[in-house]
Amino acid sequence: MKLSNETIFCENEGIPFVSFSAFSEYPEVLAVNSTRQGGVSVGIYESMNLGFTRGDEEKNVRENYRRFCNAIGAPYERLVFPMQTHTVNVRVVDGDEAGTGIIRPLSCEDIDGQMTNVRNLPLLCFGSDCVPIFFFDPVHKAIGAAHAGWRGTVGKIAQVMVERMKETYGTDSQELIVVIGPSICGDCFEIGPEVMEEFDQAFSNAFSEGILKDKKNGKYLADLWLSNKRVLLDAGVPEQNIHLSGECTKCKCNTYWSHRATNGQRGSNASLIMLK
Ligand SMILES: [Zn+2]
Repeated sequence: MKLSNETIFCENEGIPFVSFSAFSEYPEVLAVNSTRQGGVSVGIYESMNLGFTRGDEEKNVRENYRRFCNAIGAPYERLVFPMQTHTVNVRVVDGDEAGTGIIRPLSCEDIDGQMTNVRNLPLLCFGSDCVPIFFFDPVHKAIGAAHAGWRGTVGKIAQVMVERMKETYGTDSQELIVVIGPSICGDCFEIGPEVMEEFDQAFSNAFSEGILKDKKNGKYLADLWLSNKRVLLDAGVPEQNIHLSGECTKCKCNTYWSHRATNGQRGSNASLIMLK
């Protein structure tokens, strides 16, 4: 096991995955991200593809989930899938949703964030450059996972999650522990002027805070990590409770699936959080 600042590289039963030191002192939480390795998929999905909607063979994706779940200690038959469509829609799930998307049909549409306070109910989130955000309320024992691509980021799904956790579990934002998981870094995420405008409108001082950089060639760089950190700070999460994994899916495209590094010819990473 190798320690970086925030990300811990793990391997079990030959399956590599990463966890986050921010949660190390909370043994009741399992929060991990998959890598590209350790699965049975072939071709452009080689080998740990955890996306059922990418065109890969379903039996291979199922086997990948079995291996991944077995390695990390999560129950395969209780996984809860979102249906991510770059919205800021979030939902509260309980035991009724156990297994939806894996042994039963999906139980949602257009949902990019999920939360629960039920134990042994693993929540999934997908991102292959998009940002997975893990939430843990250690006081009320509630968890959440959200998918923030650029649309979810400027739409401030992280804030929606904090507000919904407050409403649902009585979560105090001051006590939330949040990890911004493996995703594309600010040096890799190049955007055009239309998307730049969206960031500029969503975040005051976006250029001076480093959320946006002008490449002076008609292109810009947007920092999704800093943007989501800004959203979380504005939602009342203390800076010391906001952790960046520091893992860029594009810089480390041999470790993680990256949409941009593969021009979309790819499998999918999964992020998973569960209360044990
Ligand atoms: Zn990068």
